[in-house]
Amino acid sequence: MAEADSVAVIGLGRFGSALALELMANGTEVLGIDADEDTVQGLNGLLTHVVRADTTKEEALRQLAIPEFDRVVVAIGSDIEASILTTSLLLRFNIPQIWAKAVSDPHGAILEQLGVKRVIYPEKDMGRRVAHLVRGAMQDYLDVGDNFALVKTQPPSIVVGIPLRDTNIRARYGITISAYKHGDQPWTYTTMDTVLASGDTVLVAGQTEHAEAFSQLR
Ligand code: ADP
Repeated sequence: MAEADSVAVIGLGRFGSALALELMANGTEVLGIDADEDTVQGLNGLLTHVVRADTTKEEALRQLAIPEFDRVVVAIGSDIEASILTTSLLLRFNIPQIWAKAVSDPHGAILEQLGVKRVIYPEKDMGRRVAHLVRGAMQDYLDVGDNFALVKTQPPSIVVGIPLRDTNIRARYGITISAYKHGDQPWTYTTMDTVLASGDTVLVAGQTEHAEAFSQLR
C-alpha cells in the first residue's frame, strides 16, 4: 500500500464506513481503522486494509505508518475526547490534509482551534441541504460555498418552448442553466439555441437565493 496515494479513515461508524466504501468504489486505496472488533470484522475484505487500533495512542498510529499518509479522515464523532486526541496526534505528525468530523459546533470549534483546516459537519450540512429540497421544487441541491449553489429542477414555463437566448434568464433571474436532460437522453450542455420542454430536467447554477427563487417558479 503506497501510503501517500491512499487515504486513512479513522472511525468506521456510519459516516466513516460510507466514506471509506465510496473511496474504494472510486479506486482509492483505503486503510480503515476502528477500535471496535465487530466493526473491523464487518468491513474485512471490503477495504484495502482494515485494522483494529486505538488511535488515541501515538504508538498505534506509528505502527500503522499513519505519519506517511498525506490524507487522513477522522470520522470519530460521539467520543469527542477520542476525536480530539487522535486529531492532535495527526497534527503533530504534520499530515498535509486532515479532515475531521464534528458532531456539534463546540466540537468543530475545538478542532478548528487545534488547527484542522477541513472540519466537516455531516449532519448539519445534510439538514440544511434537505431543508432546501423540502422547501422548493428542487430535485437536488448542492451548496458549493460562498453563497453559490447548483440546483437540479424542472424548467419553469417561462423558459419552455423558446430558445434560451430569448428568455433573458441571466439578467432576469441572475442564474444560468448549464445543462439539461430530455427523457432518457444523456445530460447535454445548453447553448443559446437550446429549447427546453416542460418535462426536461435542468441544472441551474447561481447565487443561492437566485437559484432557489428560480426553482420555485412554475
Ligand atoms: P457515526 O455517527 O458516523 O456512526 P460514531 O462517532 O458513532 O460515528 O462512530 C465512530 C467510530 O469510531 C465507532 O465505530 C468507534 O468504534 C470508533 N472509535 C471511537 N473511538 C475510537 C478510538 N479511540 N480509536 C479508533 N476508533 C475509535
